[in-house]
Amino acid sequence: VDLGQYVLDCAQELQFDMEKKGVQFVLTELPKSPLYVTADRDKLRRVLLNIIENAIKYSEEGQCHITLTLREIDGHAVIQIKDRGQGISEESLPHIFDRFYRADPSRNTATGGSGLGLAIAKQIMEEHGGRISATSIIGRGTTVYMALPLSQQGESEG
Ligand code: ATP
Ligand code: MG
Repeated sequence: VDLGQYVLDCAQELQFDMEKKGVQFVLTELPKSPLYVTADRDKLRRVLLNIIENAIKYSEEGQCHITLTLREIDGHAVIQIKDRGQGISEESLPHIFDRFYRADPSRNTATGGSGLGLAIAKQIMEEHGGRISATSIIGRGTTVYMALPLSQQGESEG
């Protein structure tokens, strides 16, 4: 999978949601040459869609600003998805990848969700030999990092 192209395709799928909420989607950086990873496209799509959906869902309408960066670091393709949403408290941050965990459920009831999205994302990333992590400042926003090992050059499918 050519990750740069694939990430764009996934973001495109959420175009409608983003327009509805007035999201500013900014692609700050894409590598000059394609980054190939060996991955199950459907699973990868699930991960990307959930993270971008979260960034949209947990941001104030009209103030939603998402930045996406793709880089090559140490033989890995690293995707950074940054939002300027409500953020996650220090207490909650270590738990967001747990199953059924939803930070501050009272505040989040309006947004809905099962709390499974990130748990599934983590499982999928691990299946692919990758990693996922997040940093966040409450009231400021959240950044999610995904890292996947690059496959041998030219090997684009798998
Ligand atoms: P689902 O994805 O299953 O529909 P969900 O979005 O609640 O439900 P996760 O995607 O696993 O579940 O996220 C877990 C929790 O982490 C969320 O309920 C929310 O509290 C917090 N969270 C995740 N992403 C963000 C974000 N970008 N900004 C703020 N909080 C977030
Ligand atoms: Mg979610």
